[in-house]
Amino acid sequence: MLDESLLEKQKSQLFFHRIIYILVAVVVFIGFVMTSVTTDFLQLWLVVGTALLAVIEGVFSKFLFWNKKWILLTLTYVQYSFFLVFMYLLYQKDIFTTLAISVLMLTFMFEYSYYSDIADDLKNKLSLIILIVPFFVTVIVSFCLHGVDVTGFLLLIDYAIFCLMNIMLVRVFYISEHILMKQIDILTFQVEDMKEDNDELVAVKNRIEKVNEELNLQRVKLAQMNREVNQSNAELAIQAELLKNINGSLSKDIPAFLNYIIDSVIRIRHAEFCGIYIDKNVFFNKRPFNSASCVSNETIKDASEMKILYEKASNREDDWRVYRNLEEEDFPTIVKTNTHSIMVMPLVLDKKKYGVIVVGSRNPMAFEEHVTFYDVIVPQFNLAIHNFQLYNQMKHIAQTDGLTGINNRTHFNRLFNEQMDVTLRNNEPLTVALFDIDKFKRINDTYGHLVGDEVIKCIASLAYEYVEVPEKGFICRYGGEEFVLVFPNTNTDTALETVRALHKKIEDTTVEAYGHVVSMTVSIGVTNYPVICDDVNQLLKRADWSMYYAKEHGRNQIKVDGPDVTEVK
Ligand code: GH3
Ligand code: MG
Ligand code: MG
Repeated sequence: MLDESLLEKQKSQLFFHRIIYILVAVVVFIGFVMTSVTTDFLQLWLVVGTALLAVIEGVFSKFLFWNKKWILLTLTYVQYSFFLVFMYLLYQKDIFTTLAISVLMLTFMFEYSYYSDIADDLKNKLSLIILIVPFFVTVIVSFCLHGVDVTGFLLLIDYAIFCLMNIMLVRVFYISEHILMKQIDILTFQVEDMKEDNDELVAVKNRIEKVNEELNLQRVKLAQMNREVNQSNAELAIQAELLKNINGSLSKDIPAFLNYIIDSVIRIRHAEFCGIYIDKNVFFNKRPFNSASCVSNETIKDASEMKILYEKASNREDDWRVYRNLEEEDFPTIVKTNTHSIMVMPLVLDKKKYGVIVVGSRNPMAFEEHVTFYDVIVPQFNLAIHNFQLYNQMKHIAQTDGLTGINNRTHFNRLFNEQMDVTLRNNEPLTVALFDIDKFKRINDTYGHLVGDEVIKCIASLAYEYVEVPEKGFICRYGGEEFVLVFPNTNTDTALETVRALHKKIEDTTVEAYGHVVSMTVSIGVTNYPVICDDVNQLLKRADWSMYYAKEHGRNQIKVDGPDVTEVK
């Protein structure tokens, strides 16, 4: 295969040939005219042969026969031989013909040398021999036909000059081309080197990009893991808080604890709404607990629908219910928030519901999947509440009197001390009443202790009903059948209204127990700070002295402390 560059070169060469052919025609024509020689057949043959060679070249070029180097070489060789023969035949015929034919021969000799790789290696003897053969054949044939003549020698000299010129030209051409090729080689090598370097660089760049991508991926994964760890940490924190409460150090402030759970659910689970409803009596406060919080509406502190959700809730702790498409009718408060779905989780102890936790989300499909967080939190929550109840029960037992259920003396002392502090701090009035059942020994003796107990219980419950239920103050069983009533921030007259009403009620009440109907009366002593007694620490003592005064003055009466009340001996 001929390489592309050689083919290109040959094409330009063909163009050059055509110019030469035209020149030959012109020169031969001028020769005719100038020398006025009659048409010579040899000149005619030269023109015809040249034309023929031009046509052959044209055909070869058309069909790209140059692709085969030997065709190129053969044709050039034929051209070279043709012009050599004509050079000999026409030598010195006339100056123009000789010149034209010499140039042609030189051209084709040069071409042949070039394409037959003589230039590549001048030691290529075969090429040199082939180059020289036509000349010798011509000269020998000439000498044989015409004997040794001047033309032959001149031709020999001419040919030697041509050969020398040719070799020099080719050599110069070769050297310059060789240098060029060398430079091209070096450049190609460098380019290849650079390409290799470049390839390596590209490979390194790709590797870096890949590593970068992996790093980015890992960064994203790390961020995700970080979020999950934070989430888990937050969840663990709330569980720890719950555990802390379960393990005895339960906060006395149960509403604060429940609100902490609400806030934690909103913060950790990114809930829109969270509410807790606990049935009344669970915390011995006779009122239900109902608290809520909402992200989009901070004014919401509770929701009326919580009670209904609690009533509708199941007694099974795993029976969580999800509500979507919330209507105002059913969810008047929650519907005003950005909540689009809610989940109601019953709070169950001893197979009986006592409350609900309601979680709301902006996402309507939020509770499609089970959330394990609540699986963990709800049982712990139940345990915390259970412990809180136990704690409260124990506290209740410790603070109340076993027979009557009202405050015992120990607890009363604490309450009364606290009250004295409040009274002094706020400079408020404080009224204290102390009463004792009249002739109680006789009731015991007559009807028995059990009946006596029922009498004590009845009087305690009346006192509770008249003082604690309307939240006028607090009471206590001060001794066996002695009771104290404390009226904070109340003057004597106001307190006396209750005391008189209670006194009358007791007098009008009969206790039916164990087949007996028993009526009873009480003697009451009343004192007040600061109008009657200016020392809060003396109130109980003065109430006691007043009560004794009532006893001594006929019983079944109320004695308000005054100057006539003196120390009981
Ligand atoms: P007075 O009118 O002076 O108060 O006469 P009294 O008989 O009531 O005398 P006192 O107040 O001293 O009597 C107290 C009695 O109450 C003595 C005790 O046996 C009785 N008692 C104290 N605690 C209880 C109790 O829990 N149950 C019963 N059944 N009796 C009690
Ligand atoms: Mg007594
Ligand atoms: Mg008594």
